[in-house]
Amino acid sequence: MNPVGRAGGQFIGGRWERSASIGRIYVENPATGEILARVCTGDAADAEQAVSAVRSAFPGWSATPLETRVRIVRDACARLSNEVDDLAELISKEVGTPLPVSRAAQVVRPIEVLGSLCDAASEVAWSERIDSTVVVREPLGVVVAITPWNFPLHQVVAKVGAALLAGCTVVLKPSELAPLSAYALADALHDAGLPAGALNVVTGLGSTVGEALTAHPDVDGISFTGSSAVGRQIGAVAARSVKRVALELGGKGPSLVLPGADTETAAAATAARCFTNSGQVCAALTRLIVPRDQVGPAEAALAAFVEAQRIGDPFTEGVTVGPLISAAQKERVLALLTRGIEDGARVVAGGPGGPVPGGGHYVAPTVLSDVDPAMTIARVEVFGPVLCVLAYDDVEEGIAIANDGEYGLVGAVWGPDAEAAEAAARMRMGMVGVNGGRLNVRAPFGGYKQSGHGREFGRFGIEQFLELKSVNFPSADRITWSTP
Ligand code: NAD
Repeated sequence: MNPVGRAGGQFIGGRWERSASIGRIYVENPATGEILARVCTGDAADAEQAVSAVRSAFPGWSATPLETRVRIVRDACARLSNEVDDLAELISKEVGTPLPVSRAAQVVRPIEVLGSLCDAASEVAWSERIDSTVVVREPLGVVVAITPWNFPLHQVVAKVGAALLAGCTVVLKPSELAPLSAYALADALHDAGLPAGALNVVTGLGSTVGEALTAHPDVDGISFTGSSAVGRQIGAVAARSVKRVALELGGKGPSLVLPGADTETAAAATAARCFTNSGQVCAALTRLIVPRDQVGPAEAALAAFVEAQRIGDPFTEGVTVGPLISAAQKERVLALLTRGIEDGARVVAGGPGGPVPGGGHYVAPTVLSDVDPAMTIARVEVFGPVLCVLAYDDVEEGIAIANDGEYGLVGAVWGPDAEAAEAAARMRMGMVGVNGGRLNVRAPFGGYKQSGHGREFGRFGIEQFLELKSVNFPSADRITWSTP
């Protein structure tokens, strides 16, 4: 594996090509400022070349038997499994994730997701009968996948794996801030026997190469994960040529503690889900909503959790919280924290002046209490290590606070099992964890409201990349249809 060695090129038509564009993007280690790689900026000409290559590859790949598609993706999975340590190190350097977390969440988990997509391929109803009609699921066509930096391999496999298994061909534009693991995936799929052109990787900025791909008339669908602002832009550009668009956007995850719950356990589990990857997680739980008489115990548990964290270089043993991805992200998070305090929030732990090492883009894990649902800090996705505590007086109000706001990606609820399940049913979110229930990679992943639309993972993720065709016969006894 030598993703850094790939950095000057674009993967087009099964070969690593040099881009005509001479611009370079510097991929930085956020803990040290070291430049890890110089990546091609890419331009509209690269986008054109990549789309043309995937369009040419589509007839062959979409007609490739499902078992062959599954075998190739599984083989790529096995190749990635042999490189877990190298990939974990690479992503820790790119993103700043502490090494053990990087290994588990940035590498082992994506490999699990890719494997479960292979398993799910046989769960799709590729064809079914309704009266004298055969309903067939066929590949959507040429797909563009655009991904963010926070879980760079995970987001890429969820899209590329599902699209390839569906029979689509793909142009991937990974984040310019953390593109290197995408090269490793391209190499693994190529070595596993993926036909030339079925997956192309172009790097560059969203505003140039990303937009050129989104607008391209030969592209049938866009699968995007990233910020809501960019998601809106992509939706608007793609609408001009009526492309199918799946958007996985931001979140402001509520964690609702019901009367009768174990507040300390709920608070600690919520903090763990807030501070992972320095809070740069769309599915982070960032609002702990507690009965007013539980604010004290919640604050004490959260302060103890923060006290136990060790912030620093991702490669130092024992470190649990690394830097943020960039200087700009650090500035943004500190500005939001300052605004929250000016609006009346109280610092329970951390804060804008909290202790952090020098050199990297660090922000101290922070707990704010006395947060009102109307405050900016309670409504905006911070994408940093900031947890807000909000109080409620009755359960109706607690559920209303949980559902308040523009996002609806993920939530959690804690309490006696029956009451917790009842509250979960009333939460307007794509995923809700009940008493610590974890995300399931075989179940749909995605959000309600402005957290986007479309779903990833398992058969739902593959179905995202399928078209439905109704083939109507004169009568049921005259159906002559064999599904490939
Ligand atoms: P971002 O929206 O800035 O960028 C995401 C990708 O879009 C990058 O590859 C970027 O180059 C590209 N892009 C930017 N402008 C574009 C344009 N005009 N046209 C086409 N492509 C364009 O997001 P980010 O900062 O990389 O990631 C953080 C955001 O991602 C957060 O808001 C987070 O919530 C969200 N996110 C969501 C999920 C989810 O599954 N719901 C998962 C992870 C991250």
